[in-house]
Amino acid sequence: MPSFPKRLRLLSLVAVLLIVGFLTTSIASYLVSRDAVRGGIVGTALPLTGDSIYSEIQKDILRPVFISSQMAHDTFVRDWLLNGEKDPEQLTRYLNEVKTKNGTFTSFLVSEKTRYYYHNSGMLRAIEPNDARDAWYFRVREMNKAFETNVDPDWANRAKVTIFINYQIFDYQNRFIGTTGVGLTLDTMSQLLKTYETRFQRNIYFVNESGQVVLTGNSAQGRNSILLHDGIRDVAAKILNHQSKPTQLSYPLNGQVMQVNSRFIPELGWYLIVEQNETADLRPVQRMFQLNLLISALITLLVLCIAIYSINRNQRRLEALANTDSLTRLLNRQAFEVVLNQKMTELARRPCSLAGILIDIDYFKVINDEFGHLTGDAVLRKVADILRHTVRTGDTLARWGGEEFIILLDDCPRAMALELAEHLRLAVANYDFALPRATSVTMSLGVVELQADETEDEFFQRADYLLYAAKTAGRNCVMADG
Ligand code: GH3
Ligand code: MG
Ligand code: MG
Repeated sequence: MPSFPKRLRLLSLVAVLLIVGFLTTSIASYLVSRDAVRGGIVGTALPLTGDSIYSEIQKDILRPVFISSQMAHDTFVRDWLLNGEKDPEQLTRYLNEVKTKNGTFTSFLVSEKTRYYYHNSGMLRAIEPNDARDAWYFRVREMNKAFETNVDPDWANRAKVTIFINYQIFDYQNRFIGTTGVGLTLDTMSQLLKTYETRFQRNIYFVNESGQVVLTGNSAQGRNSILLHDGIRDVAAKILNHQSKPTQLSYPLNGQVMQVNSRFIPELGWYLIVEQNETADLRPVQRMFQLNLLISALITLLVLCIAIYSINRNQRRLEALANTDSLTRLLNRQAFEVVLNQKMTELARRPCSLAGILIDIDYFKVINDEFGHLTGDAVLRKVADILRHTVRTGDTLARWGGEEFIILLDDCPRAMALELAEHLRLAVANYDFALPRATSVTMSLGVVELQADETEDEFFQRADYLLYAAKTAGRNCVMADG
C-alpha cells in the first residue's frame, strides 16, 4: 500500500511530466509561429511596401530631379546667364514651358551674378543674404554636390509647402553661375503615403540625413526627429547609415515590438522608413498559445483527477482487503484492534459506557472432525452472518480468531449487552445449520463492561475469563461480570 507522501510524489511526477511536456510543445509551436509571422513582416511585407513606395517616388520625384538636371545643363540657360541675363521674358517663357510640359508645381532660376530670382511667372525679386527665406540659396551655393532636395514654403505660391529640387548651374569653365530647378507640392506624396498607411496599417515617412521627419502620411505627424522620439531613437544611428539597400531593424515601444525597414534614397538625400507594430499580426498566434496552455492545463487536471481517483479507489480496495477476514467477510483482528484503539481514545475524551462480547463456538473441533473442514467453514460463515444481522448498526463485529468472534458495543450499559448476548446465543442455537444427525451449533459468550482506568488487555482478560467460565458452566450460555 503506497504511503501518502509516496502517492504525492507519484502524482507530482505525473503533473511535472505533463506540464513540462505541454509547456515545451506549446512554447516551441508558439516560437515557430511567431518567427513565421515576424519573418513575413520582416522578409516580405515591409520590404515590399518599401519597394512600392520607392517606385512611386521614382515616378513622382526622380523625374523632377532629372528635369532639374536638364535645366542646369541646358546651353540656353547657361548662355542666357553668361550673356548678361538680357530679355528676361525669354527665360520666363522657358521656365513656364518646363513647368507646363512636366506638370511640376513651380520652376525657378537664381542668377549668382545678379542674385535675381526668376520664376515661371516672371522675375520676382533679388534674393538677400540676410533674408531667412533665401538661406537655401547660400547653402546650395556652397554645396559640394550637384543638387539637393529641400522642403520649404514656396513664397512665390502662397507659401505652400513644396519639395524643391535645387540644382547648381556651372559655366563651361566649371564656375558656379546660379541655381535652377523645379518645385512639387507635398500634397500628392503625402496623399500617397496616407493611402499606403491605411491600406497596410504601417507607418510610412521620410527623414533627411540628420533624422528630421520631412514627409509623412498621418503616422509620423508631430514627430520632428527620429533622434528625439522614444523607441526609434535607439536605432536611429543604424537607420541613418547611407545604405541604399534596405536595413531591417526592430525596437521596443510600450512593451510591444516595432519592426522597421529603412533605405537611403540618394537621389533625394532622404531615408524612407516603413514601420509596423508586429503585435496585431502576432495576436492570433498569441491567442492560439493561450488556448494551447488552457487545453494543456485542463488535460493535466483531468489526468491528475483520474490518477487520484484510481489510486484512491485501489487504495480503498487494498485497505478493505487488508482489514477483512476472507472467510467470514467480517473485520479481522488487526482492523478490530485499530477500531478499539480509536474508541479508547474517544472514551478518554468523552467518557461513556462501552461493552464487549467475546464469543466461542462450542465443540467446533467436533464439527470439523465429523463433517469436514469445508462444512466447518460453512458453519463459521453462517454464524458470522447471524451475528452480523443481529448486532446493532454502529456496533463493531470482528473475527477474533479461529471460531471466536468479538463485538464492541458503543454506549451500551451492561444489562443491554447481556440482553443482546442472550439474543445472539439463542439466534445461533435455534438456527438449523442442516448438519447431518441434527447436530446443533451453540456458542458460549462472555460479556464485559469497560471499567474506568481499565487497559485493553485487562478488558480482554476479563472477557476471556468469563468466556472460560461459560465453557466450564456447561457451554451454550452467557456469563457476565458483576
Ligand atoms: P470448546 O471451544 O467448546 O472448548 O471446544 P472446541 O472444539 O471449539 O475447541 P477449540 O477452541 O480448541 O477448537 C477450535 C477449532 O476450530 C480448532 C480449529 O481446527 C478449528 N478452526 C479454527 N479456525 C478454523 C477455520 O477457519 N475453519 C475451520 N473449518 N475450522 C477452524
Ligand atoms: Mg476456540
Ligand atoms: Mg470452541
